[in-house]
Amino acid sequence: MPQTDQPTDQPTAPQTALLFQAAFDAVTALVAATPVLRSFARWPRDAVPANLPAVPVPAARMVADWTGPACPHTARTVQALRAVAPHADWHRTYSIAEVGEDFHNRYGWFELVGPGGHFRADGLRAYVAYWGVGLTYPRHRHPAEEIYYILAGSARFAADGLATETLHAGEARLHVSEQAHAMTTPDEAVLTLVLWRGAGLEQNARITS
Ligand code: ZN
Repeated sequence: MPQTDQPTDQPTAPQTALLFQAAFDAVTALVAATPVLRSFARWPRDAVPANLPAVPVPAARMVADWTGPACPHTARTVQALRAVAPHADWHRTYSIAEVGEDFHNRYGWFELVGPGGHFRADGLRAYVAYWGVGLTYPRHRHPAEEIYYILAGSARFAADGLATETLHAGEARLHVSEQAHAMTTPDEAVLTLVLWRGAGLEQNARITS
């Protein structure tokens, strides 16, 4: 291989794979130590690394630079996810036309575990999702059942049939299939682990009226 001008602080592919393994191990340990997550779906400890290429969005750097509060229960996971954030396969479900440019530029998610994830498994999807401060995620719904678990920061959740409440690191919220829900981040950014299970696992969320 010829020498290139690649910056020397970029990790090699094997180093990136180790970072993802550490992130998977941290989330696996978190799920095992958190009854509300452990009971939601069988965690696939045997999920196979997919070595997905990095697809950066602006939120990748925001997660890598995260300095906001976590909690003792989530701190190891937050650190491990910060390390993989620059190398993750980031997605944004919505267009600028749907959510506005500011929202579009300060949110994103990647699938850590699942059919299309960094670790391949069937039967659940585990996303890492981030929203910057001062955003409004409009009412939306999806067929999969969902649990939001706050890793760091906080967000205010509203849903049909549930009281609106602010969740902080270590707290969780369940949404049943097609239950419309919305979220805002009035006080600070939020980093979440989102688990999906059940029918319609392959269908993304859609904004609803
Ligand atoms: Zn949802």
